[in-house]
Amino acid sequence: MSEKYSVAIDGPSGAGKSTIARRIAGKFGFIYVDTGAIYRTVGLAACRRGIGSKDAQAVIDMLPELNIRLGYARDGQQRMYLDGEDVSDDIRTPTISIYASDVSALPEVRAYLMETQRSMARENSVVMDGRDIGTVVLPDAGLKIFLTASPEARARRRLRELLDRGAEADFEQVLRDIEYRDANDSARAAAPLRPAEDAVHLDTTALDFEESCAAVEKLIRERFGI
Ligand code: C5P
Repeated sequence: MSEKYSVAIDGPSGAGKSTIARRIAGKFGFIYVDTGAIYRTVGLAACRRGIGSKDAQAVIDMLPELNIRLGYARDGQQRMYLDGEDVSDDIRTPTISIYASDVSALPEVRAYLMETQRSMARENSVVMDGRDIGTVVLPDAGLKIFLTASPEARARRRLRELLDRGAEADFEQVLRDIEYRDANDSARAAAPLRPAEDAVHLDTTALDFEESCAAVEKLIRERFGI
């Protein structure tokens, strides 16, 4: 494939970005880049060092020591490595969700991760999901989608995901965590969550997974003529 296509999918936690993006990337043979996983890995590194998620100076001081790598398993799943260890499962806990949200508010952390994200899109056709992909990371992406759903719908989906993984979780707590992260991600000064001006808005509250994927697939086919 000579021409490189970039699809940016942004939106709040639990809108279905990652599951939809993964399916769509597989369908078109693009690489799926889950940028939240990269922020989560920075959060995990801070947590493991005993650094508080809001201790900005300690988080910034830690950055030069970090050895974070993004890899792909044979089945195309993105894996995250911290100091050579596969931490892809360890980054999925509620504690690390809050860490990721807090450390990602630091401009130093965002700048540190920028080139990793951009180089993926230079070298591959990508579906990249996050909070600022269409606005900051890939402002020239060929298609930008802003994916939303009501907080309750998002909390229900996150709860199911956690329970399926065998984690303990209850709806009220998951909803509170989502609301915390929504507020944090939207209110921060550095690359706040907001739709790019040229983003297509897609609300998945009333759509199931297959319907959401079909809507995104249609947008890609129309935009790129593929
Ligand atoms: O997408 P996910 O929920 O895994 O992201 C974890 C956290 O990382 C988000 O709450 C958000 O604060 C942060 N994030 C970000 N920018 C991105 C992706 C994620 O700030 N591009």
